[in-house]
Amino acid sequence: MYSYVIQGSRQRLAVGKIIGLARTYRAHAEEMHAVVTEEPLLFLKPESAVIFSGQSIVIPRFSQCLHHEVELGVVIGKGGSAIPEPEARAHVLGYLVALDITARDIQAEAKKKGWPWAIAKGFDTFAPISDVVPAARIHDPMNLELSLLVNGQRRQHANTSLLLYSLDHIIAFISEIMTLREGDLIMTGTPEGVGELREGDVLDASLEGHCTLHVDVRKGP
Ligand code: MG
Repeated sequence: MYSYVIQGSRQRLAVGKIIGLARTYRAHAEEMHAVVTEEPLLFLKPESAVIFSGQSIVIPRFSQCLHHEVELGVVIGKGGSAIPEPEARAHVLGYLVALDITARDIQAEAKKKGWPWAIAKGFDTFAPISDVVPAARIHDPMNLELSLLVNGQRRQHANTSLLLYSLDHIIAFISEIMTLREGDLIMTGTPEGVGELREGDVLDASLEGHCTLHVDVRKGP
């Protein structure tokens, strides 16, 4: 079982289901030669994929090509279903910076064959997350600088204002499909600049200085 670290709190909150969004930044959809859809594209990532700062992303033997995707994570504090957009923010406990690690070679094959992305997105260690910044400390989650350095070089950098869907809409939309519960995590998708990770790489992600995430990459057995 994995529990969030919440800034300024001793509360232990278990990580629930992880809902991933895809193609939520136009420039990233373009670099993937993918089309933007009317509603966000969803997938699920198992909570067993979670790791925290100081731990390692493990390259599985099934993949020759892991990609980094830095993302704004939204942690649900109050559950609900069919949440109306104007009430969405009241359901948010806080925000974090996350990495949606993706086996790009496996995903590319799945896309070609019309298969799900569960394998490409679901390996252990494929969901590194920072500690949680309580919502009250973030003035506007739709105006935050997301950044990722790999070995000290900037690989991804964008503002969440470029998200194609509002956070309120994302929460309303997801909760119309599946009930959101306390501890669930929404990974809101990545901006452009995704790229390959290699053994020994060191990653530093941040959400405008509110929270940081430091992980490295090693090979599996
Ligand atoms: Mg992603």
